[in-house]
Amino acid sequence: MPLELIQGDIAAQNTDAVVTAANKELAGGGGVDGVIHRAAGPELLRAIRAIGGTPTGTAVITPAFGLSAQGVKYVIHAVGPIWRGGQMGEAELLAGAYRSGLQLAAAHGCRSVAFPAISTGVYGYPLDRAADVALSAAQAFLTDHPEMLVRFVLFDSGSLNVFRRALERLQG
Ligand code: ADP
Repeated sequence: MPLELIQGDIAAQNTDAVVTAANKELAGGGGVDGVIHRAAGPELLRAIRAIGGTPTGTAVITPAFGLSAQGVKYVIHAVGPIWRGGQMGEAELLAGAYRSGLQLAAAHGCRSVAFPAISTGVYGYPLDRAADVALSAAQAFLTDHPEMLVRFVLFDSGSLNVFRRALERLQG
C-alpha cells in the first residue's frame, strides 16, 4: 500500500503537495504552520489571507511558492479540531481535515502528498487517537486512489512509533 510513515521535517519533503496544520482563520500560526510559512516565504501568507478562512474539518490549497524549489507544487492548509475531551465531534472533524486535504491533492493532479500529525501539537489531540483517525482516512482514500503516495511525516521517533503501532492495529 502506498502509505509511508517517516520521521522528519514536513518542510523538507519533495512530494507534489505538502500539508500544513492551519487554523480556521487562515491567519498563519506557529508549529508546523510556522515552519511551512518560513520555508515557502511571505507570498504563502498573502495567498491564504486572500482566501480568508475555512471551517474546521476542511482544507484549502495554494501554490507552494518558495517550496517549489524542492519540487513541491502545492501547500494544502488543513484545519483540524482543538481537542476538547473527545465528545465534541473531534474525530469526525479530524477525519474531515485529512479527507479534504487528500481530495484537494487528487483534484489538482498530485501523485504524492505529505501530512504532519494534524491537531497533535498546540491543539492537544492525543497522538494515538489522532494516528487512528489519520491512517483510517488515508487507507480509505487509497482504496479509491491507489496511484497516490500518502506520506506521514512525524517529527520525533516517539510519534513515529505511535503511528507505526496504529498502522499495525488497522492492518490487524
Ligand atoms: P496543531 O495546531 O494542529 O496541533 P502543531 O503545528 O502545533 O499543529 O503540531 C502538529 C504536530 O506536528 C505535532 O505533533 C508536532 O510535534 C509536529 N511537528 C512540529 N514541527 C514539525 C515539523 N517541522 N515537521 C513535522 N512535524 C512537526
